[in-house]
Amino acid sequence: MSLYPSYPPNLTAEQLSYLITSFTDYSLSHGLIVRPAPTFIPTNPSNSLATPAPVTLWPSPFPRVHFEEARSLQTFCNLLYARVASDQSWLGDLSTSLSLVDDFISKLWAIHTRLKSENGYHHKYSLGLFRSDYMVHTSESEFAPLGIRQVEFNTIASSFGALASKVSELHRYLWRSGAYPPTAEYINDLSLPRNEALERLAEGLAKAHEVYIQDVSPDAKYTLENAASVGPNSSYGIMFVIQDGERNAFDQRWLEYHLTQKYGIRVFRVTFEEIRKYTHHVRPNYELLFVPPHAFDGKKQQVYEISVVYFRAGYGPGDYPGQEEWNTRYFLEESRAIKCPTVLTQLAGSKKVQQVLAEKKNLEKFMGNERGEDGVVERIFDTFAAIYPMDESEAGLKARKLAFEEPHRFVLKPQREGGGNNIYKDKIPEFLRELDEEKWQGYILMELIRPPEVENLVMRNGEMMQGKVVGELGVYGAVIWKDAEDGEPGDIDIMYNEEAGVLLRTKGSNSEEGGVAAGFGCVDSCVLVD
Ligand code: ADP
Ligand code: MG
Repeated sequence: MSLYPSYPPNLTAEQLSYLITSFTDYSLSHGLIVRPAPTFIPTNPSNSLATPAPVTLWPSPFPRVHFEEARSLQTFCNLLYARVASDQSWLGDLSTSLSLVDDFISKLWAIHTRLKSENGYHHKYSLGLFRSDYMVHTSESEFAPLGIRQVEFNTIASSFGALASKVSELHRYLWRSGAYPPTAEYINDLSLPRNEALERLAEGLAKAHEVYIQDVSPDAKYTLENAASVGPNSSYGIMFVIQDGERNAFDQRWLEYHLTQKYGIRVFRVTFEEIRKYTHHVRPNYELLFVPPHAFDGKKQQVYEISVVYFRAGYGPGDYPGQEEWNTRYFLEESRAIKCPTVLTQLAGSKKVQQVLAEKKNLEKFMGNERGEDGVVERIFDTFAAIYPMDESEAGLKARKLAFEEPHRFVLKPQREGGGNNIYKDKIPEFLRELDEEKWQGYILMELIRPPEVENLVMRNGEMMQGKVVGELGVYGAVIWKDAEDGEPGDIDIMYNEEAGVLLRTKGSNSEEGGVAAGFGCVDSCVLVD
């Protein structure tokens, strides 16, 4: 039995052609776009060519109860990961043992230890723009949904929020305009949820900007409300750390436009290399100053104090080709600016932390006092799939056996972000055999989630593909915190904690990875099924 109604509706050739025209023009005119891959458009003069982002033609059915549950857990997940990031000794134990086998983790952790032993931290507050990713899990014997299972928790560069909001609006428009035929009566105002990921993520950044200015300059009585009415004439700004040649630039630009247009905040997009050239600290408080080369008229040079450093780069080894880049990351970490995320928050998002938290006693360590809140610990715990360490602990030895005896049930994950790093099913034994056994403990072994298949059509570079797909729901969260004074490790004061919209990513049901940027998947929206 299928979980979903027969979907999507059949169209006549005329209906399909009308739908695709409406779809494409809406995407292009609303900035639901990406820069084309050089393999698709080899020359792109002045970077002026864009193409619609890969998106499903129809919203994909998703069970309403699971959608609501995932969203309602988000502020608690925010709290959990903020607490983990603040517990230096707990995170330190994990990071130091991983450092032995994972060079990237080792270098991140070294930034923290060096800072502690040299000048210390100068920031007071941290910003998390998180995304918790889930799939609906079905049982082996029948296609009954059992609940949501967390795929991973992202603490750095959680992308696609802006495009996800726009896909929700696109699908809503296709319904309202009549481009979807009337036979699709289950697509309507009640089944298409609003998705304010763009607005809410921008609000998180803007709030952190406000928190920063109120801290460094309380006399200025800066608030977002009065700033928005004055316009962007302040000497404070937000820095987006980006990759050179980013194809998903518009997803980031939309956040910038929102910050500038709605809140009057200036945004600077800079690469690690540009940071080296155009920024410096002011001692003794390590304010981060940016001297933008475009803001010089021959006489006067504008200088901006950076309130928030928002990383859309720096999440993987590829962003650090040499020591220079690591020095730049250290330099940013040392500054007074609010980091989104700090090195510690980035480490809290490692797959290892996810695996350790999946042991109930560890989850309880951080969330035990939330027990009274509608059984939150149990509800979060219920979203965890089985995840095993690959070390020499009892659970690790069991996992090592399972990895060879029943690999088809598992995915093996290294401590990496950004897609394309995992090892699936029957490839696991061979992979492990070729890897030094000491390095196994740098991986986690995770049970495969079995999402229900639905049928949909995907538009990518103007071409239509139809087939069975599965979806992964991401829920964004925005949280601002600081360490509590005289508190225990992990005790924090929360200044802001919100659920911040959703992302549905859809991929072919027989493709293992679902990364949109990596070319396997596309952005979708939910049509909720009761
Ligand atoms: P990354 O940090 O590279 O995004 P993920 O853990 O999100 O790593 O894995 C990448 C993709 O692999 C996911 O988007 C999902 O499609 C698939 N995947 C990961 N874990 C599982 C799992 N336990 N069951 C099924 N699919 C999974
Ligand atoms: Mg992922």
